[in-house]
Amino acid sequence: MKKIGSGKVREIYEVSDKELVIYTTDRVSAFDVILPTPVPEKGRVLNQLSLFWFDLTKDIVKNHLVSADPKDMPEEFSKEEYKDRVMLVKKLKMLPYEFIIGVTCGSMWKAYKAGEPFCGQVITGDYQLAQKLEKPILTPSTKATEGHDEYSVTHEGLVKDLGEELAQKLEDTCLRLFEKCYDYAYERGIIIADTKLEFGLDENGELVLADEVFTPDSSRFWNRDEYQVGTPP
Ligand code: ATP
Ligand code: MG
Repeated sequence: MKKIGSGKVREIYEVSDKELVIYTTDRVSAFDVILPTPVPEKGRVLNQLSLFWFDLTKDIVKNHLVSADPKDMPEEFSKEEYKDRVMLVKKLKMLPYEFIIGVTCGSMWKAYKAGEPFCGQVITGDYQLAQKLEKPILTPSTKATEGHDEYSVTHEGLVKDLGEELAQKLEDTCLRLFEKCYDYAYERGIIIADTKLEFGLDENGELVLADEVFTPDSSRFWNRDEYQVGTPP
């Protein structure tokens, strides 16, 4: 198979000019470094999680999943090692951003405490550390092609690059995705503290949710039982 990308965790193969296979390995990456010891079965769990969320959110936005059925995969992926780890997806023109959304912590908290805008937005209201905002704000950052040189982008920056309509659609979509999945997990004892979403455009220029969604590699999860607003979980 033609491998067109090898990330820290996943391998990307080109099936045709329209489709890709994403293979999730057991590798663990932290702060952009691959740790020496893989975690057995991690790749399967990540892949299944993404499939679950893609299904739960398909009424909000189209996603890149074509099939996860081994019968639909190229023969090369019928080996046992690929079982439950591969996804056939639509090849998209990816937007060069990571769309981050979550509760108030990290640099968002620092900016809020200092009364400064965060990604161009001023948070008003009375909030404590790790509290979910009335309306969570989207904080996009550019996607680093190498290393860790990402920087955050304001709404105006996004509009300038992608146009008002697409920027607005992205913001609405991310908010709806976060709210729905946050509530779903919350009811089951898990808090999605924050997450990173990636999108692409299909052949008709339509917005499509891509990559992985609400996995531990793209999100942080807290145990609701131990969570206390005002304290860092
Ligand atoms: P990192 O290891 O830091 O995550 P990475 O994001 O470059 O690095 P992976 O996440 O393992 O690597 O690989 C996924 C790559 O494939 C990303 O660059 C992502 O933007 C891209 N991608 C995901 N879905 C699609 C798609 N449907 N079409 C085209 N590219 C995609
Ligand atoms: Mg990635």
